Amino acid sequence: MPIYLDHAATTPLRREVLDAMLPYLTETFGNASSAHGFGRAARAALDDAHEQVAADLHGEAREIVFTSGGTEADNLALKGAAWAGKARGHRIVTSSVEHHAVGHTLRYLEKFGFEIVELPVDRYGRVDPDQLEAAITDRTILVSVMLANNEVGTIEPIARIAEIAHARKGIVLHVDAVQAAPYLDLDVRTLGADLVSLSAHKFEGPKGVGVLWVKHGTHLLAQQHGGSQERHRRAGTEDVAGAVGLATAYHLTCEARPATAARLTAQRERLAAAVLAVPGTELTGHPTDRLPGLLSMVCADADGNAVAMGLDLEGIACSVGSACATGSPEVSHVLTAMGYPEDEARGALRLSLGRTTTDEEVATACDLVPRVIASMRMGTMAVRADPLGQGVPA
Ligand code: PLP
Repeated sequence: MPIYLDHAATTPLRREVLDAMLPYLTETFGNASSAHGFGRAARAALDDAHEQVAADLHGEAREIVFTSGGTEADNLALKGAAWAGKARGHRIVTSSVEHHAVGHTLRYLEKFGFEIVELPVDRYGRVDPDQLEAAITDRTILVSVMLANNEVGTIEPIARIAEIAHARKGIVLHVDAVQAAPYLDLDVRTLGADLVSLSAHKFEGPKGVGVLWVKHGTHLLAQQHGGSQERHRRAGTEDVAGAVGLATAYHLTCEARPATAARLTAQRERLAAAVLAVPGTELTGHPTDRLPGLLSMVCADADGNAVAMGLDLEGIACSVGSACATGSPEVSHVLTAMGYPEDEARGALRLSLGRTTTDEEVATACDLVPRVIASMRMGTMAVRADPLGQGVPA
């Protein structure tokens, strides 16, 4: 069996989650908006899913909007808050290390006259709250900063960012918690955000289901129109099985989170000690304020895509960073923002562990990963020294 070390890209669907979903894909198939018994059964399950997710996030059921994933949650948050706030201002402040679901959405909003300010980050990928404060003007309506980065695992100082954003009246704070939600305690009341995005497939739920938590009272314009589902915030017949799947997966995740985080931290540290012992490798992201199971690095004189391919041949699945960017000729915008030059950023590699990762798998990875990286580095260095393979002249 290959070893799966790409949990930041997606996770396997948990058996209990599938079991909870199955009735809503089979006998309890009603449309949650129908008045008859079939519809009422679906509605009851959907209402329970809202209640469950709200309880686990420490929010209210009416604040939960189910979406088709993290990307849609981010789009709804940003477009919805931007258009709702247009009369008050047009300035939106974000970080330079957001996922494309945020970054590209904001670039789209720019075409409609919104001014997008991207804050720089330090070598670890962290936003400086003082720079955020300096970027906020009277025309600022929205701030969007992620809780934890998907490529390098760095945790952003959201509590301080929330304080600064809310010191000015009328600024909405959106937090993309898609990568953080499986591993970090998430209490929307203490986080200080107004909008929070989650995605089920990052915590052993189904793909294509997400949540946008919308703090009660936050003005948001719907971005798809039709029926009055999800309290007029997201039209379309609800995916009851998906909502039940997300709610079940998130509940199980929250129950196991302290134990999972402790185990993953120990496993990641073991793997880091083995892998970062290879000369030329360097940890990327913050050394301590980072997601417990995410080990990211740059390998000098190696191509990250080639290393990931070499590891795949050896039975280890991992990636260079964002799954959306895999195979792309462009280097990571996250590493670029962190100050890595293009040639160093090309050596990016991400090994992400998850709840189901075993100690035996980590032990195998501790043996294989350093060997593959070292052999790839030697190959690249040899080609560079003697590109035509004619032997280096004395
Ligand atoms: N935001 C972050 C930080 C992510 O890592 C991802 C997915 O990798 C997304 C948003 C998009 O979520 P989804 O895959 O559910 O559309």
